[in-house]
Amino acid sequence: MNKDSATMLDRFLSHLESVFFIGLHDAEEIISNFHKEMSHGLAGEKSSLKMIPSFVCRPKGTEKGKFLALDLGGTNIRVLAVELDGNRNAVLTAANKSVIPQEMMAGTWDNLFDFIADCVLLFFKENDIGIHQGYSLTFTFSFPVAQSSIASGKLIGWTKGFTAAGVEGEDVVALLSEALKRKGASFIHVAALANDTVGTLMAKSYADPSCDMGVILGTGTNACYPEKIAHILKRPGLGASGEMIVNMEWGGFNQLQTNIYDNILDRASLNPGKQLLEKMVSGMYLGEIARLVIVEMIEQGLLFRGTSLSAFSKGYALTTEHLAMMTQGSDFFADFGLRDVTAADRQAIHEICRIVSTRSARLAGAAIAAVVTWMDANLESEHTIAIDGSLFEKYPGFQGCMSDILNDLLGDRGAMIKLDLAKDGSGIGAAIIGAVAAHITSR
Ligand code: ADP
Ligand code: MG
Repeated sequence: MNKDSATMLDRFLSHLESVFFIGLHDAEEIISNFHKEMSHGLAGEKSSLKMIPSFVCRPKGTEKGKFLALDLGGTNIRVLAVELDGNRNAVLTAANKSVIPQEMMAGTWDNLFDFIADCVLLFFKENDIGIHQGYSLTFTFSFPVAQSSIASGKLIGWTKGFTAAGVEGEDVVALLSEALKRKGASFIHVAALANDTVGTLMAKSYADPSCDMGVILGTGTNACYPEKIAHILKRPGLGASGEMIVNMEWGGFNQLQTNIYDNILDRASLNPGKQLLEKMVSGMYLGEIARLVIVEMIEQGLLFRGTSLSAFSKGYALTTEHLAMMTQGSDFFADFGLRDVTAADRQAIHEICRIVSTRSARLAGAAIAAVVTWMDANLESEHTIAIDGSLFEKYPGFQGCMSDILNDLLGDRGAMIKLDLAKDGSGIGAAIIGAVAAHITSR
Protein backbone atom coordinates (compact mmCIF):
# COMPACT_ATOMS: atom_id res chain seq x y z
CA MET A 1 0.00 0.00 0.00
CA ASN A 2 1.44 3.40 -0.91
CA LYS A 3 1.64 6.30 1.50
CA ASP A 4 -1.35 8.19 0.06
CA SER A 5 -3.74 5.29 0.33
CA ALA A 6 -2.50 4.54 3.86
CA THR A 7 -3.34 8.14 4.83
CA MET A 8 -6.77 7.89 3.21
CA LEU A 9 -7.47 4.65 5.05
CA ASP A 10 -6.40 6.19 8.36
CA ARG A 11 -8.57 9.22 7.73
CA PHE A 12 -11.57 7.06 6.91
CA LEU A 13 -11.14 4.96 10.05
CA SER A 14 -10.79 7.94 12.37
CA HIS A 15 -13.88 9.48 10.79
CA LEU A 16 -15.68 6.16 11.30
CA GLU A 17 -14.62 6.11 14.93
CA SER A 18 -16.06 9.59 15.52
CA VAL A 19 -19.31 8.74 13.70
CA PHE A 20 -19.89 5.72 15.97
CA PHE A 21 -18.51 7.12 19.23
CA ILE A 22 -20.81 7.41 22.24
CA GLY A 23 -19.20 10.01 24.48
CA LEU A 24 -20.14 10.97 28.00
CA HIS A 25 -22.36 13.80 26.80
CA ASP A 26 -24.23 11.49 24.38
CA ALA A 27 -24.73 8.92 27.15
CA GLU A 28 -26.09 11.57 29.54
CA GLU A 29 -28.53 12.70 26.88
CA ILE A 30 -29.63 9.10 26.33
CA ILE A 31 -30.28 8.72 30.07
CA SER A 32 -32.34 11.88 30.25
CA ASN A 33 -34.38 10.88 27.16
CA PHE A 34 -34.86 7.38 28.57
CA HIS A 35 -36.34 8.88 31.74
CA LYS A 36 -38.76 11.02 29.70
CA GLU A 37 -39.83 8.11 27.52
CA MET A 38 -40.23 5.81 30.56
CA SER A 39 -42.46 8.34 32.22
CA HIS A 40 -44.59 8.80 29.05
CA GLY A 41 -44.80 5.03 28.54
CA LEU A 42 -45.96 4.41 32.12
CA ALA A 43 -48.60 7.11 31.78
CA GLY A 44 -49.93 5.62 28.53
CA GLU A 45 -48.77 8.64 26.53
CA LYS A 46 -46.97 8.47 23.19
CA SER A 47 -43.53 6.93 23.77
CA SER A 48 -40.98 4.75 22.02
CA LEU A 49 -40.83 2.68 25.24
CA LYS A 50 -43.96 0.54 25.53
CA MET A 51 -43.51 -0.14 29.31
CA ILE A 52 -45.74 -3.23 29.36
CA PRO A 53 -46.96 -4.55 32.76
CA SER A 54 -46.08 -8.25 33.13
CA PHE A 55 -48.57 -9.22 35.87
CA VAL A 56 -45.82 -10.74 38.01
CA CYS A 57 -43.66 -9.45 40.81
CA ARG A 58 -40.25 -10.77 41.80
CA PRO A 59 -40.16 -14.19 43.47
CA LYS A 60 -39.51 -14.60 47.20
CA GLY A 61 -37.04 -17.43 46.75
CA THR A 62 -39.29 -19.85 48.63
CA GLU A 63 -41.33 -21.03 45.61
CA LYS A 64 -41.11 -24.79 45.21
CA GLY A 65 -41.94 -27.53 42.71
CA LYS A 66 -41.38 -28.82 39.17
CA PHE A 67 -42.23 -26.56 36.23
CA LEU A 68 -42.02 -26.65 32.44
CA ALA A 69 -41.02 -23.76 30.21
CA LEU A 70 -41.00 -23.09 26.51
CA ASP A 71 -38.65 -20.33 25.40
CA LEU A 72 -39.07 -18.88 21.91
CA GLY A 73 -36.13 -16.52 21.31
CA GLY A 74 -35.17 -14.94 18.02
CA THR A 75 -32.88 -17.75 16.90
CA ASN A 76 -33.58 -20.78 19.07
CA ILE A 77 -36.47 -22.55 20.69
CA ARG A 78 -35.87 -24.30 24.01
CA VAL A 79 -38.05 -26.57 26.11
CA LEU A 80 -36.99 -26.98 29.72
CA ALA A 81 -37.96 -28.71 32.93
CA VAL A 82 -36.91 -26.91 36.11
CA GLU A 83 -37.05 -27.90 39.74
CA LEU A 84 -37.23 -25.21 42.45
CA ASP A 85 -36.14 -26.32 45.93
CA GLY A 86 -37.83 -23.49 47.85
CA ASN A 87 -34.46 -22.26 49.09
CA ARG A 88 -33.22 -20.05 46.22
CA ASN A 89 -31.92 -22.96 44.10
CA ALA A 90 -33.32 -23.68 40.65
CA VAL A 91 -32.04 -26.73 38.82
CA LEU A 92 -32.49 -27.44 35.14
CA THR A 93 -33.49 -31.11 35.02
CA ALA A 94 -34.00 -31.47 31.25
CA ALA A 95 -33.62 -29.23 28.20
CA ASN A 96 -34.00 -29.48 24.42
CA LYS A 97 -32.89 -26.79 21.98
CA SER A 98 -33.57 -26.40 18.25
CA VAL A 99 -32.85 -23.68 15.75
CA ILE A 100 -36.04 -22.07 14.41
CA PRO A 101 -36.08 -22.72 10.65
CA GLN A 102 -36.33 -19.65 8.42
CA GLU A 103 -39.49 -20.99 6.74
CA MET A 104 -41.24 -21.09 10.12
CA MET A 105 -40.29 -17.50 10.94
CA ALA A 106 -41.59 -16.27 7.59
CA GLY A 107 -44.48 -18.70 6.94
CA THR A 108 -47.95 -18.77 8.46
CA TRP A 109 -49.26 -18.86 12.06
CA ASP A 110 -50.32 -22.52 11.90
CA ASN A 111 -46.95 -23.71 10.54
CA LEU A 112 -45.08 -21.79 13.21
CA PHE A 113 -47.25 -22.91 16.12
CA ASP A 114 -47.42 -26.54 14.91
CA PHE A 115 -43.63 -26.49 14.81
CA ILE A 116 -43.53 -25.12 18.37
CA ALA A 117 -45.99 -27.79 19.56
CA ASP A 118 -43.87 -30.48 17.87
CA CYS A 119 -40.82 -29.24 19.79
CA VAL A 120 -42.74 -29.59 23.06
CA LEU A 121 -43.87 -33.12 22.18
CA LEU A 122 -40.35 -34.11 21.13
CA PHE A 123 -39.13 -32.90 24.51
CA PHE A 124 -41.65 -35.16 26.25
CA LYS A 125 -40.60 -38.12 24.10
CA GLU A 126 -36.83 -37.63 24.34
CA ASN A 127 -36.88 -37.03 28.06
CA ASP A 128 -39.20 -39.90 28.71
CA ILE A 129 -41.78 -37.77 30.47
CA GLY A 130 -45.08 -39.63 30.74
CA ILE A 131 -48.35 -38.05 29.66
CA HIS A 132 -50.43 -39.52 32.47
CA GLN A 133 -50.77 -36.23 34.31
CA GLY A 134 -51.41 -32.61 33.51
CA TYR A 135 -48.49 -30.28 33.05
CA SER A 136 -48.36 -26.52 33.48
CA LEU A 137 -46.13 -24.70 31.10
CA THR A 138 -44.95 -21.10 30.95
CA PHE A 139 -44.55 -19.74 27.44
CA THR A 140 -41.69 -17.28 27.07
CA PHE A 141 -42.39 -15.34 23.93
CA SER A 142 -39.66 -12.81 23.23
CA PHE A 143 -41.57 -10.31 21.12
CA PRO A 144 -43.63 -7.25 22.09
CA VAL A 145 -46.91 -8.46 23.50
CA ALA A 146 -49.74 -6.39 25.01
CA GLN A 147 -50.29 -8.59 28.00
CA SER A 148 -53.80 -8.55 29.47
CA SER A 149 -53.36 -11.12 32.25
CA ILE A 150 -50.75 -13.57 33.48
CA ALA A 151 -51.75 -16.04 30.73
CA SER A 152 -52.92 -13.96 27.78
CA GLY A 153 -51.50 -11.33 25.48
CA LYS A 154 -51.60 -10.20 21.89
CA LEU A 155 -48.57 -9.80 19.66
CA ILE A 156 -48.18 -6.09 18.91
CA GLY A 157 -45.77 -6.56 16.01
CA TRP A 158 -43.05 -8.96 14.95
CA THR A 159 -39.37 -8.03 15.39
CA LYS A 160 -35.99 -9.76 14.82
CA GLY A 161 -36.74 -11.06 11.31
CA PHE A 162 -40.03 -12.84 12.10
CA THR A 163 -42.95 -12.20 9.73
CA ALA A 164 -45.21 -15.29 10.18
CA ALA A 165 -48.65 -14.28 8.89
CA GLY A 166 -51.73 -14.34 11.09
CA VAL A 167 -50.02 -13.84 14.47
CA GLU A 168 -49.95 -10.04 14.88
CA GLY A 169 -52.95 -8.91 16.91
CA GLU A 170 -53.66 -12.46 18.11
CA ASP A 171 -53.42 -13.98 21.59
CA VAL A 172 -50.27 -16.10 21.40
CA VAL A 173 -51.30 -18.29 24.36
CA ALA A 174 -54.49 -19.24 22.51
CA LEU A 175 -52.48 -20.00 19.35
CA LEU A 176 -50.12 -22.24 21.33
CA SER A 177 -52.93 -23.99 23.24
CA GLU A 178 -54.79 -24.70 19.97
CA ALA A 179 -51.64 -26.08 18.34
CA LEU A 180 -51.01 -28.35 21.36
CA LYS A 181 -54.61 -29.56 21.06
CA ARG A 182 -54.24 -30.22 17.30
CA LYS A 183 -51.18 -32.34 18.12
CA GLY A 184 -53.06 -34.33 20.77
CA ALA A 185 -51.23 -32.68 23.68
CA SER A 186 -54.11 -31.09 25.58
CA PHE A 187 -52.62 -32.51 28.81
CA ILE A 188 -50.31 -29.50 28.66
CA HIS A 189 -51.85 -26.36 30.11
CA VAL A 190 -50.29 -23.00 29.20
CA ALA A 191 -50.41 -21.38 32.63
CA ALA A 192 -48.39 -18.22 32.08
CA LEU A 193 -47.04 -15.99 29.35
CA ALA A 194 -43.74 -14.25 29.87
CA ASN A 195 -41.20 -12.17 28.11
CA ASP A 196 -37.57 -13.33 28.07
CA THR A 197 -36.37 -10.24 29.94
CA VAL A 198 -38.85 -10.92 32.72
CA GLY A 199 -37.73 -14.56 32.84
CA THR A 200 -34.11 -13.46 33.09
CA LEU A 201 -34.87 -11.13 36.00
CA MET A 202 -36.96 -13.80 37.74
CA ALA A 203 -34.23 -16.42 37.42
CA LYS A 204 -31.51 -14.28 38.93
CA SER A 205 -33.68 -12.71 41.63
CA TYR A 206 -34.85 -16.15 42.79
CA ALA A 207 -31.20 -16.76 43.69
CA ASP A 208 -30.12 -13.20 44.53
CA PRO A 209 -32.45 -10.61 46.13
CA SER A 210 -30.22 -7.71 44.98
CA CYS A 211 -31.18 -8.43 41.37
CA ASP A 212 -33.60 -5.79 40.09
CA MET A 213 -33.12 -5.68 36.35
CA GLY A 214 -33.23 -8.19 33.50
CA VAL A 215 -31.55 -7.47 30.18
CA ILE A 216 -31.36 -9.38 26.90
CA LEU A 217 -28.38 -8.92 24.61
CA GLY A 218 -28.86 -11.67 22.01
CA THR A 219 -30.57 -11.64 18.62
CA GLY A 220 -32.52 -8.65 19.92
CA THR A 221 -32.24 -6.45 22.99
CA ASN A 222 -34.73 -5.57 25.73
CA ALA A 223 -34.97 -4.98 29.47
CA CYS A 224 -37.34 -5.05 32.44
CA TYR A 225 -37.33 -3.91 36.07
CA PRO A 226 -39.74 -3.90 39.03
CA GLU A 227 -41.85 -0.73 39.07
CA LYS A 228 -44.02 0.55 41.89
CA ILE A 229 -47.60 -0.27 40.92
CA ALA A 230 -48.63 3.25 41.89
CA HIS A 231 -46.37 4.55 39.07
CA ILE A 232 -48.03 2.46 36.35
CA LEU A 233 -50.56 5.21 35.70
CA LYS A 234 -51.90 3.71 32.47
CA ARG A 235 -53.24 0.62 34.27
CA PRO A 236 -55.26 1.74 37.27
CA GLY A 237 -56.68 -1.13 39.28
CA LEU A 238 -53.54 -3.27 39.40
CA GLY A 239 -53.44 -2.65 43.15
CA ALA A 240 -52.54 0.18 45.47
CA SER A 241 -49.17 -0.97 46.67
CA GLY A 242 -46.41 -3.37 45.80
CA GLU A 243 -44.43 -3.80 42.60
CA MET A 244 -44.93 -5.27 39.19
CA ILE A 245 -42.24 -6.10 36.68
CA VAL A 246 -42.46 -3.85 33.62
CA ASN A 247 -41.24 -5.07 30.25
CA MET A 248 -39.80 -1.91 28.72
CA GLU A 249 -39.40 -3.11 25.12
CA TRP A 250 -36.35 -0.86 25.06
CA GLY A 251 -35.29 -2.09 21.61
CA GLY A 252 -37.84 0.43 20.35
CA PHE A 253 -36.15 3.43 22.02
CA ASN A 254 -35.71 5.98 19.26
CA GLN A 255 -34.19 9.16 20.75
CA LEU A 256 -30.85 8.36 19.17
CA GLN A 257 -28.41 9.89 16.71
CA THR A 258 -28.29 7.50 13.77
CA ASN A 259 -25.59 7.58 11.10
CA ILE A 260 -25.66 6.83 7.40
CA TYR A 261 -25.11 3.07 7.95
CA ASP A 262 -27.93 2.87 10.52
CA ASN A 263 -30.21 4.62 8.06
CA ILE A 264 -29.39 2.27 5.18
CA LEU A 265 -29.88 -0.76 7.45
CA ASP A 266 -33.19 0.58 8.76
CA ARG A 267 -34.61 1.39 5.33
CA ALA A 268 -33.83 -2.11 4.01
CA SER A 269 -35.10 -3.86 7.17
CA LEU A 270 -38.38 -5.74 7.64
CA ASN A 271 -39.53 -3.08 10.15
CA PRO A 272 -38.30 0.33 8.91
CA GLY A 273 -38.48 3.15 11.45
CA LYS A 274 -38.89 0.72 14.35
CA GLN A 275 -36.56 -0.88 16.92
CA LEU A 276 -33.83 1.75 16.46
CA LEU A 277 -31.91 0.95 19.65
CA GLU A 278 -32.13 -2.77 18.83
CA LYS A 279 -30.72 -2.12 15.36
CA MET A 280 -27.67 -0.32 16.85
CA VAL A 281 -27.07 -2.81 19.66
CA SER A 282 -28.20 -6.38 19.10
CA GLY A 283 -26.61 -9.48 17.61
CA MET A 284 -28.92 -9.62 14.64
CA TYR A 285 -27.61 -6.33 13.27
CA LEU A 286 -23.96 -5.70 14.21
CA GLY A 287 -22.61 -7.85 11.36
CA GLU A 288 -24.84 -6.04 8.89
CA ILE A 289 -23.67 -2.60 10.07
CA ALA A 290 -20.05 -3.73 9.63
CA ARG A 291 -20.87 -5.15 6.18
CA LEU A 292 -22.30 -1.80 5.06
CA VAL A 293 -19.09 -0.06 6.19
CA ILE A 294 -16.94 -2.65 4.38
CA VAL A 295 -18.97 -2.24 1.17
CA GLU A 296 -18.46 1.51 1.24
CA MET A 297 -14.74 1.11 1.87
CA ILE A 298 -14.34 -1.34 -1.01
CA GLU A 299 -16.22 1.06 -3.29
CA GLN A 300 -13.83 3.83 -2.27
CA GLY A 301 -10.84 1.57 -2.96
CA LEU A 302 -9.85 1.53 0.73
CA LEU A 303 -10.13 -2.25 1.26
CA PHE A 304 -8.99 -5.27 -0.80
CA ARG A 305 -7.60 -2.85 -3.43
CA GLY A 306 -11.17 -2.12 -4.45
CA THR A 307 -11.91 -5.76 -5.35
CA SER A 308 -14.05 -8.49 -3.68
CA LEU A 309 -17.19 -6.35 -3.58
CA SER A 310 -19.30 -9.31 -4.68
CA ALA A 311 -18.18 -11.32 -1.61
CA PHE A 312 -19.90 -8.71 0.61
CA SER A 313 -22.86 -7.84 -1.59
CA LYS A 314 -25.46 -10.02 0.12
CA GLY A 315 -27.38 -8.46 3.01
CA TYR A 316 -26.66 -10.02 6.43
CA ALA A 317 -23.84 -12.18 4.95
CA LEU A 318 -21.58 -10.92 7.71
CA THR A 319 -22.76 -11.92 11.19
CA THR A 320 -21.96 -10.86 14.73
CA GLU A 321 -20.16 -14.20 15.19
CA HIS A 322 -17.86 -13.12 12.34
CA LEU A 323 -17.10 -9.84 14.13
CA ALA A 324 -16.44 -11.76 17.35
CA MET A 325 -13.97 -14.01 15.49
CA MET A 326 -12.06 -10.96 14.24
CA THR A 327 -12.00 -9.42 17.70
CA GLN A 328 -10.64 -12.68 19.08
CA GLY A 329 -7.66 -12.48 16.70
CA SER A 330 -8.90 -15.06 14.22
CA ASP A 331 -10.76 -14.09 10.99
CA PHE A 332 -13.72 -14.85 8.74
CA PHE A 333 -11.93 -14.43 5.41
CA ALA A 334 -12.19 -18.09 4.32
CA ASP A 335 -16.02 -17.92 4.64
CA PHE A 336 -15.97 -15.11 2.08
CA GLY A 337 -13.51 -16.80 -0.32
CA LEU A 338 -10.85 -14.18 0.44
CA ARG A 339 -7.23 -15.28 0.17
CA ASP A 340 -3.96 -13.43 0.75
CA VAL A 341 -5.55 -10.64 2.77
CA THR A 342 -2.92 -7.98 3.48
CA ALA A 343 -1.99 -6.99 7.02
CA ALA A 344 -3.41 -3.51 6.41
CA ASP A 345 -6.79 -4.89 5.28
CA ARG A 346 -6.89 -7.26 8.24
CA GLN A 347 -6.11 -4.41 10.62
CA ALA A 348 -8.78 -2.19 9.05
CA ILE A 349 -11.47 -4.90 9.36
CA HIS A 350 -10.42 -5.46 12.96
CA GLU A 351 -10.94 -1.74 13.61
CA ILE A 352 -14.39 -1.75 12.01
CA CYS A 353 -15.46 -4.64 14.26
CA ARG A 354 -14.12 -2.83 17.32
CA ILE A 355 -15.87 0.42 16.43
CA VAL A 356 -19.25 -1.20 15.74
CA SER A 357 -19.22 -3.50 18.78
CA THR A 358 -17.97 -0.76 21.13
CA ARG A 359 -20.88 1.49 20.22
CA SER A 360 -23.26 -1.39 20.91
CA ALA A 361 -21.77 -2.07 24.35
CA ARG A 362 -21.67 1.63 25.32
CA LEU A 363 -25.30 2.14 24.28
CA ALA A 364 -26.33 -0.94 26.27
CA GLY A 365 -24.36 0.37 29.27
CA ALA A 366 -25.95 3.83 29.03
CA ALA A 367 -29.43 2.29 28.82
CA ILE A 368 -28.74 0.22 31.97
CA ALA A 369 -27.51 3.35 33.76
CA ALA A 370 -30.77 5.04 32.77
CA VAL A 371 -32.94 2.34 34.32
CA VAL A 372 -30.86 1.97 37.48
CA THR A 373 -30.84 5.73 38.14
CA TRP A 374 -34.61 5.79 37.54
CA MET A 375 -35.00 3.26 40.38
CA ASP A 376 -32.30 4.70 42.63
CA ALA A 377 -31.20 8.20 41.61
CA ASN A 378 -28.29 8.38 44.04
CA LEU A 379 -27.22 4.75 43.72
CA GLU A 380 -27.64 4.06 47.39
CA SER A 381 -28.15 0.30 47.04
CA GLU A 382 -26.51 -2.51 45.09
CA HIS A 383 -28.09 -3.50 41.81
CA THR A 384 -27.41 -6.84 40.18
CA ILE A 385 -28.30 -6.81 36.50
CA ALA A 386 -29.19 -10.24 35.11
CA ILE A 387 -28.10 -10.37 31.49
CA ASP A 388 -28.85 -13.19 29.04
CA GLY A 389 -27.84 -13.50 25.41
CA SER A 390 -24.92 -14.66 23.32
CA LEU A 391 -23.76 -11.14 22.48
CA PHE A 392 -23.10 -10.34 26.15
CA GLU A 393 -21.83 -13.82 26.92
CA LYS A 394 -19.54 -14.39 23.98
CA TYR A 395 -18.41 -11.16 22.34
CA PRO A 396 -14.84 -10.63 23.55
CA GLY A 397 -14.49 -7.42 25.55
CA PHE A 398 -18.19 -6.53 25.40
CA GLN A 399 -18.76 -6.71 29.15
CA GLY A 400 -15.66 -4.61 29.81
CA CYS A 401 -16.90 -1.88 27.43
CA MET A 402 -20.26 -1.82 29.23
CA SER A 403 -18.53 -1.43 32.60
CA ASP A 404 -16.32 1.35 31.18
CA ILE A 405 -19.28 3.56 30.29
CA LEU A 406 -20.96 2.86 33.64
CA ASN A 407 -17.79 3.98 35.40
CA ASP A 408 -17.44 7.03 33.13
CA LEU A 409 -21.02 8.03 33.87
CA LEU A 410 -21.30 7.19 37.56
CA GLY A 411 -17.72 7.31 38.87
CA ASP A 412 -17.20 5.34 42.09
CA ARG A 413 -20.91 4.67 42.41
CA GLY A 414 -20.68 2.64 39.18
CA ALA A 415 -19.40 -0.15 41.44
CA MET A 416 -22.92 -0.46 42.87
CA ILE A 417 -23.99 -1.98 39.55
CA LYS A 418 -23.00 -5.59 38.97
CA LEU A 419 -23.42 -7.03 35.47
CA ASP A 420 -24.10 -10.71 35.84
CA LEU A 421 -24.57 -13.36 33.15
CA ALA A 422 -27.86 -15.23 33.60
CA LYS A 423 -27.30 -18.05 31.16
CA ASP A 424 -30.52 -19.61 29.95
CA GLY A 425 -32.08 -17.32 32.51
CA SER A 426 -35.14 -16.73 30.38
CA GLY A 427 -36.03 -20.44 30.45
CA ILE A 428 -35.37 -21.03 34.16
CA GLY A 429 -37.10 -17.75 34.95
CA ALA A 430 -40.14 -18.84 32.97
CA ALA A 431 -40.46 -21.82 35.30
CA ILE A 432 -40.28 -19.43 38.27
CA ILE A 433 -42.98 -17.27 36.69
CA GLY A 434 -45.03 -20.48 36.50
CA ALA A 435 -44.52 -20.90 40.24
CA VAL A 436 -45.45 -17.28 41.04
CA ALA A 437 -48.44 -17.54 38.65
CA ALA A 438 -49.65 -20.71 40.37
CA HIS A 439 -49.54 -18.78 43.64
CA ILE A 440 -51.37 -15.76 42.16
CA THR A 441 -54.12 -17.86 40.55
CA SER A 442 -54.64 -20.07 43.62
CA ARG A 443 -55.01 -17.10 45.98
P1 ADP B 1 -31.82 -15.71 21.25
O1 ADP B 1 -31.73 -14.23 21.04
O2 ADP B 1 -32.54 -16.41 20.15
O3 ADP B 1 -32.35 -16.08 22.60
P2 ADP B 1 -28.92 -15.89 21.69
O4 ADP B 1 -28.95 -15.25 23.00
O5 ADP B 1 -28.03 -17.08 21.54
O6 ADP B 1 -30.33 -16.31 21.12
O7 ADP B 1 -28.42 -14.77 20.66
C1 ADP B 1 -28.18 -15.05 19.32
C2 ADP B 1 -27.42 -13.87 18.74
O8 ADP B 1 -26.12 -13.79 19.32
C3 ADP B 1 -27.22 -13.95 17.23
O9 ADP B 1 -27.67 -12.75 16.66
C4 ADP B 1 -25.74 -14.07 17.04
O10 ADP B 1 -25.29 -13.24 16.01
C5 ADP B 1 -25.12 -13.62 18.33
N1 ADP B 1 -23.97 -14.49 18.65
C6 ADP B 1 -23.92 -15.84 18.61
N2 ADP B 1 -22.68 -16.29 18.90
C7 ADP B 1 -21.93 -15.19 19.14
C8 ADP B 1 -20.55 -14.96 19.48
N3 ADP B 1 -19.69 -15.96 19.62
N4 ADP B 1 -20.19 -13.70 19.68
C9 ADP B 1 -21.04 -12.67 19.53
N5 ADP B 1 -22.32 -12.80 19.17
C10 ADP B 1 -22.77 -14.04 18.98
MG1 MG C 1 -32.79 -15.63 24.45
